[in-house]
Amino acid sequence: MTRAFVTGISGQDGSYLAERLLAEGVEVHALAHALEPLPDMPGVELHRGDLTAIEEVRALLVDVAPDEVYNLAALSSVARSWDEPDLTARVNGLAAVALLESALLVQEKQGRAVRLVQASSAEIFGEPDRSPQDEATPLRPVNPYGAAKAYAHLMVDVYRRRELHAVSVILYNHESPRRPEQFVTRKITSTVAAIAQGRADSLVLGNLDARRDWGWAPDYVDAMVRAARADTPADYVVATGVGRSVRDFVAAAFQRAGISDWEGLVTVDQQFVRPADPTDLRGDATRARELLGWAPTVGFDEIVGRMVDADLETASS
Ligand code: NAP
Repeated sequence: MTRAFVTGISGQDGSYLAERLLAEGVEVHALAHALEPLPDMPGVELHRGDLTAIEEVRALLVDVAPDEVYNLAALSSVARSWDEPDLTARVNGLAAVALLESALLVQEKQGRAVRLVQASSAEIFGEPDRSPQDEATPLRPVNPYGAAKAYAHLMVDVYRRRELHAVSVILYNHESPRRPEQFVTRKITSTVAAIAQGRADSLVLGNLDARRDWGWAPDYVDAMVRAARADTPADYVVATGVGRSVRDFVAAAFQRAGISDWEGLVTVDQQFVRPADPTDLRGDATRARELLGWAPTVGFDEIVGRMVDADLETASS
């Protein structure tokens, strides 16, 4: 039986990944962040810990001796990374590298391959000189989150050269009803649902013209699993290839909620505008399509719609 070790289990992707692996009959062990109550995840063996407690995590990994390691733990908000750049560097950068080293140690001790997937980000490209970006696009991060992820991303290749089956999946934004509310997408869908139900009267946002390439979170988890199991380790851009603006997202959300005349319900507040906002992050996932047989399965309007529906349902239940 395959044994997997997942960090970031309580996050959006961690929960989908655990469900996916359990459904395949994989034995799932997970690092549950010590600051939070233990998530309710039947079937997952939870181990309390903090990824930055490097020696404790190393001992745990040696003890679990997984076949597959998925490193999803991160300070995943760009906005928060401006407030806590040093913690961002430790969690998203240094601790990820320590996990690579620990996986190599397990591989050497067990005398069998260990496969590690690092959840990287389009933010490593920052202000790219080309769009769409692919695996060969130069790294040029413009925020603490992207810089820390870039370091971990580069170290994946270093460990690959040391015979670890290490993979970096360069994830573009991906959404679901499990997205926490501090992210702009979920803020939009939950506020639009509240407006539709008469519980709020306006939506306050930052830069409506910021563009992103938005996909469906379970599709991106599917790419992680495919990348872990591919014969040859490599890096993969995971994206839809279609760029949309925050304004497009807002329009789709109001449309799903049945509100057509929405412009007057949205106000822009400069406090929500990021210090440096990459303008055209759009990914070319040709390699993932060709080598992993991966493809996104849910389109933009349906992603937004599912999030609005879930927020409408939660509020009325
Ligand atoms: P998420 O919902 O924010 O989950 C992040 C997880 O990391 C949470 O479970 C969090 O636990 C945990 N964590 C944070 N600090 C930790 C620490 N010191 N030790 C152990 N665990 C810690 O993120 P996500 O959306 O699922 O994303 C998964 C991964 O993909 C992340 O690495 C993210 O940076 C990357 N990514 C995501 C996107 C996206 O659009 N979702 C795009 C590109 C890359 P607590 O909540 O307890 O802190």
